[in-house]
Amino acid sequence: MARVRVYELAKRFGITNKKLLEEFRKLGVELKSHASTVDDETIALFVNLTKKKDEDSKPVKQSVKSIPAKTAKPPAAKPVKKPVETIRGKAGKPFVAKPVKQPVKTMRDKSTRPVKKKILPKHKTAKNEAAKPEQVKTPAITSIKLSEAVTVKELAESLSQKSNTVIKKLINMGHLVSINQLLDVDIAVKTAKEFGVEAQIISLEQEIPVEDTGSDEQAVPRPPVVTIMGHVDHGKTLLLDAIRMTNVVDGEAGGITQHIGAYKVALKEGKVVFLDTPGHEAFTSMRARGAKITDIVVLVVAADDGVMPQTIEAINHAKAAQVPIIVAVNKIDKPEADTDRVRQDLTKYGLVPEEWGGQTIFVDISAKQKMGLERLLEMLLLEAEMLELKANPKKFAQGTIIEARLDKGRGSVGTVLVQSGTLHVSDAFVCGLYSGRVRALFDDRGNKINTAAPSTPVEVLGLTGIPQAGDAFVVVANERRAHQIAQARQQKQREQNLTPPNRITLEDLHKQIKEGQVKELKIIVKADVQGSIEAVIEALQKLSTNDVKINSIHGSVGGITESDVMLASASNAIIVGFNVRPEVKATVLAEREGVDINLYTVIYKLVADVKAAMQGLLEPVYKEVFLGRAEVREVFNISKIGTIAGCYLTDGKAARGADCRLIRDNVVVYEGICASLRRFKDDVKEVIAGYECGIGLENFKDIKQGDVIEVYTQEKVKVTA
Ligand code: GDP
Repeated sequence: MARVRVYELAKRFGITNKKLLEEFRKLGVELKSHASTVDDETIALFVNLTKKKDEDSKPVKQSVKSIPAKTAKPPAAKPVKKPVETIRGKAGKPFVAKPVKQPVKTMRDKSTRPVKKKILPKHKTAKNEAAKPEQVKTPAITSIKLSEAVTVKELAESLSQKSNTVIKKLINMGHLVSINQLLDVDIAVKTAKEFGVEAQIISLEQEIPVEDTGSDEQAVPRPPVVTIMGHVDHGKTLLLDAIRMTNVVDGEAGGITQHIGAYKVALKEGKVVFLDTPGHEAFTSMRARGAKITDIVVLVVAADDGVMPQTIEAINHAKAAQVPIIVAVNKIDKPEADTDRVRQDLTKYGLVPEEWGGQTIFVDISAKQKMGLERLLEMLLLEAEMLELKANPKKFAQGTIIEARLDKGRGSVGTVLVQSGTLHVSDAFVCGLYSGRVRALFDDRGNKINTAAPSTPVEVLGLTGIPQAGDAFVVVANERRAHQIAQARQQKQREQNLTPPNRITLEDLHKQIKEGQVKELKIIVKADVQGSIEAVIEALQKLSTNDVKINSIHGSVGGITESDVMLASASNAIIVGFNVRPEVKATVLAEREGVDINLYTVIYKLVADVKAAMQGLLEPVYKEVFLGRAEVREVFNISKIGTIAGCYLTDGKAARGADCRLIRDNVVVYEGICASLRRFKDDVKEVIAGYECGIGLENFKDIKQGDVIEVYTQEKVKVTA
């Protein structure tokens, strides 16, 4: 019996895969995805039923026709009419993505672009709209949302207060400000509180959401953005190059693509964007910076080598980011290629081929011989269609920096992946810590262009600094506004420079659970042998409660690497090492990123600690670190100051404020703090071995010649067991 795939059938009917799947579902035929197959019989049944419905619905449709559109559709007619119309209405037409009627043209449409509309204050528009018709007194405001760059005037407007009133209040609070001055966000929040209003600060990116969902009527389909991942030497780079060279629709060619960080491939059915840096490290470090740019991951697995450690890592990184995976089984030209084994091995990681009843699309390819590439691209477009990727081209552009560098002739050059809106030459923008105005745009073929629509990688000239990959790029109303926001960000950055981001730790888990910040504890498990990983994961998952679910997002054999830390940082996870140690670079990165690494050698201790942490019973463990030793050579009683021990430092150092103990004949007679430390008449912070000094002990006078003062500190240590 012949079987046909859903997407082929959808093409035949001239409707989208999603619609067709829905139609089948209505007829009681459950199909998993567009790649599922349907037999002849089912198709015949489907065609007959829809025909029958078509006939049945005719009179209904006529009556619907007479009713003016959008006014009063009789609800009863809807379910009958819909399927018929979708099948019949578009039958025979070539396969096209759904909302073709949307104007894809992305010319600047001044009427619809919110050019003059002030982004701030948010509540104001809503409030005014509500208040205007009735001219009633506005109800008291209790909460407002403020931008990260707010001026005194804007704050006053948000609070529905006169600027002068707010300025007076600020002066009373000790801040001499002018009306157009940018306010520190903390001060803005405090001032709002003075007026009895709770203020919440939202970042520029939060103000304008990147994702255009179905609710945005102006959103049109956009090409998918793809990252290629897989084990080293499995052919990621060659695949990227092979795709770059081929499958370019005539006329689009215009030369070979440049390496600008991403490139776009145009096919008859649509376009696909590929990010140039393959591998999960780059993918996750972007994500750790808050950027979500990849829509689909292509997992390359060499058919002669099979599933390898980095294949598994790539799967887990993609899963943690909730990005769908398409598997490209590569090197099928090699005689030892075993595509079935790859399929079999990947089932263990939840990637079950659709031909085996699963959900994952597998495509056999050879990057070297350029085999199967068209099918891979076709599958990417299908997956994109299923994901219903959309963006509104008629608003201010928003995107992410993929690469940035200093070019000798052109100044700072950044590649931006436009994710929503349309970017135009001369747009004002904020990018990370910098503001600027677009001086020129170049596409991935080096052509000068004037506009860039969603899912377009584009080189931007006009940056005032070099942003980092993953920084958000947001167009704003004017340069002044861009400058204000950049200024506010730079100020904040200076303040925050040294504090690592606030990430989840085992120690703070309970507090975060209680505050409702944590509903799930994500864990990355690294161990010396595979068996331990499974045992640890199983034991930990049993600890899940109704309040907190424990979810292991990655587990593999080996030391803790930078890539593990990046994944933890991007996913707000903790790392558990079982009989393994972190690499030096990973330790440094973990400190910078604020990622919690916990090392164990006994499973039950690990389980006990996680359990205790969840209940808030985990006691921090301190370790004593020896600092120095001093001999008391003389004792001085000084009025108003008290008893001072004249000491000689024999070892290490003494530090003011450090913990210490006084030892007499090998017996500890005092434990406390070095309250004062002096060299001659001066207060000092530290004295090192070989020098004399005066030490005063907190609340202790009974010091005798010959006593020994041992100085130490307490360091919080990571639990190890
Ligand atoms: P990456 O580390 O995943 O980027 O792998 P590369 O793209 O650098 O490829 C590694 C090696 O595999 C290179 O020598 C490629 O020429 C070779 N290679 C890649 N794809 C194929 C293929 O389809 N067939 C064969 N025979 N060799 C391939």
